[in-house]
Amino acid sequence: MATAFPESRTVVLTGAASPRGIGRATAHFLAERGWHVGIIDLDDAAAKAVAAEIAEQHGVQAAGAGANVADEAAVRRAFDELEAALPQVVALVNLAGVSSPVPYLEVTADEWNRVMDINMNGVHYATRRAVESMVQHGVGRVVSLSSVSAQRGGGTFSKTVYSAAKAGVIGFTRSVARELGHQGITLNVVSPGPIDTDIMGGTLTDERKTAMAADGVLPRIGTPRDIAAAIAYLISEDAGFVTGQTLNVDGGLYMH
Ligand code: NAD
Repeated sequence: MATAFPESRTVVLTGAASPRGIGRATAHFLAERGWHVGIIDLDDAAAKAVAAEIAEQHGVQAAGAGANVADEAAVRRAFDELEAALPQVVALVNLAGVSSPVPYLEVTADEWNRVMDINMNGVHYATRRAVESMVQHGVGRVVSLSSVSAQRGGGTFSKTVYSAAKAGVIGFTRSVARELGHQGITLNVVSPGPIDTDIMGGTLTDERKTAMAADGVLPRIGTPRDIAAAIAYLISEDAGFVTGQTLNVDGGLYMH
């Protein structure tokens, strides 16, 4: 039997400090629904500022800690700090990520390693630390962000290194889900299509948004709220029978 959710519970989000990003919107969306919030982002002050804003607006507990997700020791320190300050961590959402528009023949070893370190290893480091605590409580939810670019082979702003790392997130999630299911932990992936944030080299013009939407079934690109709502479902108590899955929130760009 899965252990029930504690009434007072925390979600830790990596990559939730950028002002127009999916992470910050998701942190607000979840706080509105009663989750206490921990934020890990590169800049300690920015992570703490977003946490303060969330606590003030939603009346929940929130804390922020700085860490580069590519640095395992730093991630573990940040998680320790948040765990000490907040109620039981029931969920982790891995949103920290970088884009990589470099064509394959121009990819250097440094670019390959930078993107893999953040978008793939970073998901492993944060997940590993979070599930170590979750197994002690017998309950946990992990959601990690992939991308339609992993499923369709690029075709968005980012190219091969990004696609490879984001495809890795899917295989990683399925395997850890299989290993930890009997301990009450679910792991799933949300795979967005193009979302209106600043990750694709700055704010998108209307023209670029129209071009990006042209391929999909729905006539628009996505919003951070579209992704936040999917994450909220997958970390909810009611999603306890869903694990190892990839939920595509992409306007029908990739049907699978
Ligand atoms: P964003 O650039 O607005 O946010 C990324 C966040 O990650 C920022 O807060 C940034 O500071 C943080 N970050 C970057 N490198 C980090 C590191 N090394 N350590 C800790 N934090 C780090 O981007 P976004 O569009 O909100 O993207 C969020 C996630 O969604 C990413 O994983 C991205 O790949 C994925 N995604 C985005 C889109 C899109 O179209 N926007 C599409 C598919 C997938």
